[in-house]
Amino acid sequence: MNNTVKIIIIVVALAGAAVLIGWSVGGSKPSVEGRRTAYYVCSDPKCATEFEVEPGQSIAPPESPTEICPACKKDWPSRAAKCSACGRHTPMDGHGIAPEACPACGGGPMLTSGA
Ligand SMILES: [Zn+2]
Ligand SMILES: [Zn+2]
Repeated sequence: MNNTVKIIIIVVALAGAAVLIGWSVGGSKPSVEGRRTAYYVCSDPKCATEFEVEPGQSIAPPESPTEICPACKKDWPSRAAKCSACGRHTPMDGHGIAPEACPACGGGPMLTSGA
């Protein structure tokens, strides 16, 4: 085997390795960043339905700026935080900040959709 053939084999092997590395990096799962479950509470005190909206599962029409309550169909839901202990939803305060502890059970932490 002469040196030229050896060099060709090495170059081909390196190129193959580079392709494999590129595939493993580029073939990672598509990003779902910013697409997390959102928590809501209906602002109608007579309804007060707590519901969650999975990414892409919104029932609101595209022109609606808010979600639609699945129970009363009003577009009044408030963004909420979900208690990881008891599962109750609590509306965010006026600044969109979740309460530190759950008003229902005193536990937590409160989960937010982060948006
Ligand atoms: Zn409602
Ligand atoms: Zn709770």
